Amino acid sequence: MDLQLNVAMLVLEALLYFGVMAVLFRVRHWLGSGIFFCTLGSMHFLETYLAATFYVSVPGGFLLSPGSTVLFSGKLVLLLLVYLRENAAVVRQPIYGLLVGNLFLVGLVFVLRLHAALNAGAGAPLPDIAFLDDMGWLMIWGSTLLYIDCLMIILLYNRLGTLIATPVLRIWAASSLVLTFDQLGFFAALHLLMDMPYSVLAGGWMAKMAAAALFSALAGAYLRWIEPTTKVPTPLRLGEVFEVLTYQQRYLALVEQAGRDSLTGLQNRTRLETLGADTVALLSREGRSFGLLIADVDRFKQVNDSYGHTAGDEALRAVAGALQSCLGEKDLAFRYGGEEFVMLFPDHTADEVAAVAERMLRAVRTGNCHPGGEQLSASIGFAVGPGDGTNLNGLFQRADERLYEAKRSGRDRAVGPRRAQGAAAPGRRSMQTL
Ligand code: GH3
Ligand code: MG
Ligand code: MG
Repeated sequence: MDLQLNVAMLVLEALLYFGVMAVLFRVRHWLGSGIFFCTLGSMHFLETYLAATFYVSVPGGFLLSPGSTVLFSGKLVLLLLVYLRENAAVVRQPIYGLLVGNLFLVGLVFVLRLHAALNAGAGAPLPDIAFLDDMGWLMIWGSTLLYIDCLMIILLYNRLGTLIATPVLRIWAASSLVLTFDQLGFFAALHLLMDMPYSVLAGGWMAKMAAAALFSALAGAYLRWIEPTTKVPTPLRLGEVFEVLTYQQRYLALVEQAGRDSLTGLQNRTRLETLGADTVALLSREGRSFGLLIADVDRFKQVNDSYGHTAGDEALRAVAGALQSCLGEKDLAFRYGGEEFVMLFPDHTADEVAAVAERMLRAVRTGNCHPGGEQLSASIGFAVGPGDGTNLNGLFQRADERLYEAKRSGRDRAVGPRRAQGAAAPGRRSMQTL
């Protein structure tokens, strides 16, 4: 009975640890990330200390360390969470912080040893530093393993994306594999340095598997209910994640630059094909309502012809600014090409997209966009998923048909699903041509 209570207590400790850390992570935008990261660091120290000294018996004759089972497994999943809700450049900070901190700790222990010689010379009692030595090496090994584990869990999570669509299952698969690897590596050190019995290996592994299941479920719940997002992480290839985590990150700036249109600063057409397509796929998969809108400036050729291309460029920048001023936090804007812009509106109904479209038309009209001080206008066609389609190509085609309809019926107007019903013009283009 007592041993079963030990198991129950371990579960409670896991819930407590993850719960507190998740709250600190969730409030990072208000209180700063430092609180979360410092707490993670303190818990890392406690974890290594516990892994070296503190074991509890559970049914089956196994010995488990709350340090490894609860704190280490939890920390790994939390770091994956940081990657998923921030990015690789943020998550590498605690990873390297823990590594540097622990190397420094061991260095300081070497300095502390000098006190022993001084005490011995003065006949004073000798400080007991043998344990600090063991801890030190364990910390270096633990931090090195953690570094490898973190790379592995993020790379695996990315790689498993093609096989496992559900995030919670993907976290579970990645964390189970990494914790298995970690258990073998960490136990080897415990066995060599501290003569830990083999029962610790088997018991620890089973406990880590249980922890992986529990923490994955908690992380899944966090991602779904506590901090959901439509933001699709920049689709990093495996090598790229590795590069960021290993501080070879200049490519990030390049990726960012490569994805932007230099005239307007909006995301470019390539981004629409990658990020836009991923976003549409995600929203469709989750059954969420969303809009795709194409805006095309009216009679823009005349502007160029009358005022020249430089003034035309300036006008395009102003139009992009006017359109952008109507976007919400989650909305995405792309310059598709020329004087055409594509926007994505996650979690919008048809009426909501229609309302934004009207605001955009007004913003272009009143935005002083025309180089000659006249009124510039735009026409808009939009489609609403999942009704109009569940992939970027299909939705783009519907929206483009309606844009054509808006042009035909007089310009300076928006056409969406209802108005376009039965009146849609034949498609002019499709994203196949992208
Ligand atoms: P409408 O859409 O109302 O049918 O007429 P439009 O005159 O806007 O149509 P069209 O698509 O034929 O012309 C678009 C013009 O946009 C052609 C080109 O001169 C101009 N354009 C495209 N890209 C740029 C750019 O980067 N800078 C400038 N200044 N003009 C551009
Ligand atoms: Mg055009
Ligand atoms: Mg035009």
